[in-house]
Amino acid sequence: MSEPKTYQGQCHCGAVRYSATTDLGTMFDCDCSRCRRIASVMSSVPADQFTLHAGEEHLTLYRFNHHAIDHLFCKTCGVQAFSRGKFGDTPMVMLNVGCLEGAPMIDRSTITHYNGAGN
Ligand SMILES: [Zn+2]
Repeated sequence: MSEPKTYQGQCHCGAVRYSATTDLGTMFDCDCSRCRRIASVMSSVPADQFTLHAGEEHLTLYRFNHHAIDHLFCKTCGVQAFSRGKFGDTPMVMLNVGCLEGAPMIDRSTITHYNGAGN
């Protein structure tokens, strides 16, 4: 497990930019109907370890199923750089690991596979 580090993240066009402090200890993908289509790998942080620096007005909101997660994507480039949700009562942010500058290579054989399709 690596030390927590502050990563810079952004969408493809750069309109949406943020920083997040995390050790990327748990990376996961998900087999729900939506995640299957975009195949992103995510990692969660408590919302207070996340700062959105630019682009709130560029975000388009998409919700489905239980409407528990705010899927936010850039209206210019379409990339979902993060989403917002809650774990119990704790506000969380799910980072799109592929949007983080300097993040380690993702080994899909070692990440957690979340069974979103079965929930
Ligand atoms: Zn963008």
